[in-house]
Amino acid sequence: MHPRMAGQGVFRQAPAVHPLLLPLVRLRNDATLIARGAAARLGRPDAPWKLTLALTWVCEQRCTHCRIWRRPLGEELSAAEWDHVFQRLGDQLSWVDLTGGEVTSRDDFAAIAQSVVARCPRLALLHFPTNGRDPARVERAAQDIVRARPTRLIVSISLDGPPALHDRLRGDDGAFASAIETYRRLRALNIETYFGMTLSSYNATRVDETVEAIASHVPGFAHRDLHVNLIHISPHFFQNQPIEDRARSPEVDEALAAFTAARGVPRGPTALLEALYLAHVPRYLETGRSPLPCGSLSVNAFVDPAGTVFPCHIWDRPLGVLADYDWDLARVWALAETRAARQEIVAERCPGCWTPCEAYPTVLSNLDRAVLAA
Ligand code: SF4
Ligand code: SF4
Repeated sequence: MHPRMAGQGVFRQAPAVHPLLLPLVRLRNDATLIARGAAARLGRPDAPWKLTLALTWVCEQRCTHCRIWRRPLGEELSAAEWDHVFQRLGDQLSWVDLTGGEVTSRDDFAAIAQSVVARCPRLALLHFPTNGRDPARVERAAQDIVRARPTRLIVSISLDGPPALHDRLRGDDGAFASAIETYRRLRALNIETYFGMTLSSYNATRVDETVEAIASHVPGFAHRDLHVNLIHISPHFFQNQPIEDRARSPEVDEALAAFTAARGVPRGPTALLEALYLAHVPRYLETGRSPLPCGSLSVNAFVDPAGTVFPCHIWDRPLGVLADYDWDLARVWALAETRAARQEIVAERCPGCWTPCEAYPTVLSNLDRAVLAA
């Protein structure tokens, strides 16, 4: 345990939801999430209901579009410290993304994820991305998380092109094959698993080829099983300012239009959310601004591995360190500095972006506008 946690209690798990009750709890938590989205315009809640938490900067891949792998290890909150954060937020949290770096590089990753499930009874969705580099390690972590019985667990495996391109963009020979194997193992566990492609001028012309390459290993794989997002620049997260913004190119516009058409009519809530995200990408590419009023610091926030709270993973605007506030994110949320930053977001004085981590809660908080504008 970290010395800061001395005397603050020990890490413990609450009992998992009974399997027979799981569908009912899922229904209740989905309803809570939708209600929270609908209520977002009525006022700012006392704490965010959606969090993106970076647990580590450790990553074994060497991506062209991301410099996280170059970051020094730095300080990381322990599992016990994260547990206190989740305990404080409790049923206020509906949606948690655990990201990195490669989250499964942490031996205690599954314990942290289990802690989210145990401490947050209203959790509708737990998501983590993985580079899929170590299929057995990801499988073990996922098995442990499933044992805690989250109402919904989604895993996305990064995949940026057909084999040779993916391996090159990831600076990692064999990365494509490992990603496929990770997908197979997670699907065998009945875990909702997708491939996630970060679109840029590096790979925009290769989307169909990527789907075909996956389908040659995963029969039946189609465009609807691939999730795409756009390359973004972030000084405090990706630290990729040296690369030029490769999202704005005619190839990306064309690829997005073709991809959206190929996905067809959305089937299910996740596909609908993604369809609404995709429908607004052209407007973001045109203006560089969030196409809908951004929900950051209204409904969502980002926390880095050392526990520093930011509005999102794009805007380098540190607001407070959780250790200084007794692990209570709601206290950082209530600071005058945080409220001032929220006003800047409303006035569009942030960098502007359209990344799924923040765009999805923004869509949920503006469903009527999102549908009408789409
Ligand atoms: S994009 Fe993901 S896999 Fe690639 S270096 Fe960054 S954290 Fe690692
Ligand atoms: S629009 Fe601004 S505040 Fe919102 S997620 Fe993007 S950079 Fe962050």
